[in-house]
Amino acid sequence: MPIHEKSLIRPENLLTHDKLVLDGVDVSGHWSTFIESRAVSDYNEKLEEEVAALPGGEFVHRCWQCGSCTNSCTVNAINPDFNPRFWIYLVRTGMEAELLRDKDIIWQCVSCHKCTYACPRDVVPEGVMKALAHWVELKGHAPKSPSKEFDEEFSEQVFATGKIEEGRVIRGFFRRTGQPLAQDWLVEMARRVARRLPILLGLRLAWAAVWRPRTRGWAPARAALNEYVAERKAADRRALGLGPEG
Ligand code: SF4
Ligand code: SF4
Repeated sequence: MPIHEKSLIRPENLLTHDKLVLDGVDVSGHWSTFIESRAVSDYNEKLEEEVAALPGGEFVHRCWQCGSCTNSCTVNAINPDFNPRFWIYLVRTGMEAELLRDKDIIWQCVSCHKCTYACPRDVVPEGVMKALAHWVELKGHAPKSPSKEFDEEFSEQVFATGKIEEGRVIRGFFRRTGQPLAQDWLVEMARRVARRLPILLGLRLAWAAVWRPRTRGWAPARAALNEYVAERKAADRRALGLGPEG
């Protein structure tokens, strides 16, 4: 599969003429394409430092732009605009405004880790994608992504009880993202699962949904986790030059 590349030339800066003759030569259409000049002056010289300070972004400086991550990427195969190599290039060169043009798709990484295995420099591009999505959100460039909403719902349940209950996670995720619970695909999936589910397991799931199981003696672990998360959040905000969370 070829590497789908992206260009720093913006489509709106390409000019063509429907009808143009120069020195008697017809150069209409694409033959007369001109590129409007553009000065990039909005560098963020700390961009690489900021991304490297977030979990997952630590090794972004190792990238040598071989493109293996993009070439192997699951999402890129469906959407060529999703391009880890290109975003890492923008991070390393401080081209923040260019990066923000893709702020609405960076979070779409599905964490398949194909890029991680393909990368010859141990950059861990999957981690960089996570760090980038986190950076976009912390800087206020985009609302919380659906995957972040899911992470928070999942983590909050673990912190609260030391366990998770899948049905509750799904309900909480749908509530946070404003989705109705009775979606056709979900109803169909539940119906099929219910048909094949062993009775005893079904009863245990129903019991867990109603009584919310808890891990015994979980309080010290919860306190330690909450302390770690608070420290981590504060460190992330400091690295990005942001004040304490409001
Ligand atoms: S982990 Fe993300 S960036 Fe890496 S290959 Fe999978 S979808 Fe692409
Ligand atoms: S595979 Fe690794 S070294 Fe190559 S472009 Fe991607 S992150 Fe950079």
